[in-house]
Amino acid sequence: MTPDGSPWTVAPDGGRPEGRTCSHLAALPAAPEPVPHVCAPCRARGWNWSRLRWCTTCGHVGCCDSSRGRHAQDHHARTGHPVVLSLAPDEDWAWCYTDEVFLVRTGPARSRAPG
Ligand SMILES: [Zn+2]
Ligand SMILES: [Zn+2]
Ligand SMILES: [Zn+2]
Repeated sequence: MTPDGSPWTVAPDGGRPEGRTCSHLAALPAAPEPVPHVCAPCRARGWNWSRLRWCTTCGHVGCCDSSRGRHAQDHHARTGHPVVLSLAPDEDWAWCYTDEVFLVRTGPARSRAPG
């Protein structure tokens, strides 16, 4: 936990200028709420998706930028909601579209199956 109580912090990124911050850290939940791991607009079109992103503002689930629909980014563009969490089981980070920073946990990663 950081002094401001957020379970998240901005990831170090050598490729970017120092001192980048995210003004949304304090409002971020530690983990996504239980949600269906489905991109609804993709499923409606019969498209496949790669990874899913969960909007920390409203709980919207959308597919990642490597997916055909890019619905997570589309959701941000339409709503202005800033931060998405990855729902992929092998990813443990968040991305702030507004501040353009990766966010990682300040504590231990969420539990995973051994091996
Ligand atoms: Zn931010
Ligand atoms: Zn999609
Ligand atoms: Zn949203």
